[in-house]
Amino acid sequence: MSKILDEYLAENLQELKDNGLYNEINVVEGANGPEITIEGKKLINLSSNNYLGLATDETLKKVAKEAIDSHGVGAGAVRTINGTLDLHVELEGKLAEFKGTEAAVAFQSGFNCNMAAIQAVMNKEDAILSDELNHASIIDGCRLSRAKIIRVNHSDMDDLRKKAKEAVESGLYKKVMYITDGVFSMDGDVALLPEIVEIAKEFDLITYVDDAHGSGVMGKGAGTVKHFGLQNDIDLQMGTLSKAIGVVGGYVAGSQDLIDYLKVAARPFLFSTSLTPGDTRAITEAVQMLMDSTELHDRLWENGDYLKKGLKELGFDIGNSETPITPCMIGDEKTTQEFSKRLMEEGVYAKSIVFPTVPKGTGRVRNMPTAAHTKEMLDEALRIYEKVGRELNVIS
Ligand code: PMP
Repeated sequence: MSKILDEYLAENLQELKDNGLYNEINVVEGANGPEITIEGKKLINLSSNNYLGLATDETLKKVAKEAIDSHGVGAGAVRTINGTLDLHVELEGKLAEFKGTEAAVAFQSGFNCNMAAIQAVMNKEDAILSDELNHASIIDGCRLSRAKIIRVNHSDMDDLRKKAKEAVESGLYKKVMYITDGVFSMDGDVALLPEIVEIAKEFDLITYVDDAHGSGVMGKGAGTVKHFGLQNDIDLQMGTLSKAIGVVGGYVAGSQDLIDYLKVAARPFLFSTSLTPGDTRAITEAVQMLMDSTELHDRLWENGDYLKKGLKELGFDIGNSETPITPCMIGDEKTTQEFSKRLMEEGVYAKSIVFPTVPKGTGRVRNMPTAAHTKEMLDEALRIYEKVGRELNVIS
């Protein structure tokens, strides 16, 4: 055993603990629904990304079990050997239809998807303009590509235009991409896609939207790109299958050539075993459900609006969210963590988000209402918020 590794681990763990950054992971006993059980205590769950409640949907459970019976529990190989099942082809056809693109390809996770697609398309002769609040998987995908990474101030179109012009006119790069989240998960704000497309056209930028939090939520369920009617203007639409869709996995939707290329160049497609049959079948069914009805989407927004209105009336600062994601701004790190802890003791599970995930002094408790929450659950959560808010002097 390596002594150097032992010392390295002990030192780093201690430093994280000393700075209050060591995350104790809670174990959920049973299903991840609108209510969860942790250490035997039932809690109203305002921390999942299960926006439409599909993670525990009866139809999805049934079709997943049937697919396990017909196809087994594993795909058996990477896609290019013999891990491309008829179920994967069916799913990808459905995803393309859902997104309004020529084609789509599925990956094992949303994280994997960003690592795969960015690296496949961009390389060291290129530059990537990236919104400063983009998700960690985008940052890692950009690094893997070895392209020059240029940070753009969050949703600042003047900054984007200036940096796009500089990058293109410098003549240093073969291709320039702009990459952004569709919906930003910490604040719930939406990327300014119409303005982005305009700038992209002016400078011939490749456009890449990570719609992990927009799929199932924006555009009557079809996502942020469709919300703005820009499906013919965004080159790569990436999304996850683990949040609103309720299962696991990720996808890229775009032109047939893009998808054909990803299938020969994206390393997680080539070298990692594909999605399981049960998951794949459940995802296809979930996508079909979203295409057939907006009922869950509508309920999600109704619940999001209800929670936001209730928190605002109590005097909380809920930031500038344009989606059901409802941050409750607290401020300093210590109070934010104490707030979340007290909520949990009282019966609400809502995670604190503090530095380094968000800038210092902008700690918040982030609430993710879902279509599966009842009004009674939300009322009880608001009652607890009021109690804890007064106790910690966050509201008067
Ligand atoms: N992109 C964004 C914006 C995300 O929020 C996440 C998940 N937190 C991912 C990608 C990764 O998705 P997955 O959990 O499916 O790996």
